[in-house]
Amino acid sequence: MKTFDYERASSIDAAVRAGGRFIAGGTNLLDLMKLQVETPDKLVDISRLDLDRIEERDDGGLTIGALVPNSDLAADPRVIERYEVLSRALLAGASGQLRNKATTGGNLLQRTRCYYFYDTAAGCNKREPGSGCEAIGGFNRIHAIIGTSDQCIATHPGDMPVAMRALDAVVVTQRRDGDKRRISLGDFYRLPGDTPQIENVLDAGELITHIELPPAPAGRQFYRKVRDRASYAFALVSVAGVVDVQDGRIASAALAFGGVAHMPWRNPAVEQALVGQAPSTEVFEAAADALLRDARGFGSNDFKIPLLRRTLIACLRDVTL
Ligand code: SF4
Repeated sequence: MKTFDYERASSIDAAVRAGGRFIAGGTNLLDLMKLQVETPDKLVDISRLDLDRIEERDDGGLTIGALVPNSDLAADPRVIERYEVLSRALLAGASGQLRNKATTGGNLLQRTRCYYFYDTAAGCNKREPGSGCEAIGGFNRIHAIIGTSDQCIATHPGDMPVAMRALDAVVVTQRRDGDKRRISLGDFYRLPGDTPQIENVLDAGELITHIELPPAPAGRQFYRKVRDRASYAFALVSVAGVVDVQDGRIASAALAFGGVAHMPWRNPAVEQALVGQAPSTEVFEAAADALLRDARGFGSNDFKIPLLRRTLIACLRDVTL
């Protein structure tokens, strides 16, 4: 591992002024450093900051500190009762040990699990811009089918962010100049385009301090993850949803998808195909058509297109019929 400076921050202001790569749980960053995929000159340890609480908001939502461990968030009674989709998504991720260490803010910033990204001998535009993408034309079973570019077809690997996308979460940050920002999770991530190395809209040195959840939406909540083994595996596809049926019709639907794009994916056209309709297989098929209209496979991952269709339809059937 390359040598680096280390500083433990004593306050948020000190952390953003310190000028280094933030580290808290380290469940992803340390692996990347050991493999020389990431080689920061300086680590700023934020693990002792006062950001580990879950608090009620005046509007009935929750404010989650960026350092709340995934296991604590999943087990919080308010989250279990009001945000079941989030608790289920958290428990579907990683292992018990990792969830004890991984933080809410860090989970949002988890990097892709593309094999070539972790192999420093391989061409990878995300790790080394301009070096090519060996996943395109290579082994791409876990890769994206939506929102890809000819520079990168990687997926975001998280579960928790998919649920938060369905819940319209907001990311709260502090910049180096002291300014605070509130960024809708829908505006937080970027598609790969020509710059796959830039994965979100954070500025250099900008620290995630909290995540805000709006009041719990009406309807039944679910998270379904399809993976190669029953635990400790990333999603091939996943669906997070909140669907409300009133008087035999779908009154509202919020659906987000994991394992299929460079970001937790949400498409208003999918929800528009459902709202106002009486639940039926034909309506669910129309929603799946809207979701997959521009989907594209790259060989080994072609199976994800029918898999995502079937998973979405099965979830909608379970939750509405
Ligand atoms: Fe790198 Fe993205 Fe291509 Fe994977 S898919 S090799 S992360 S550029």
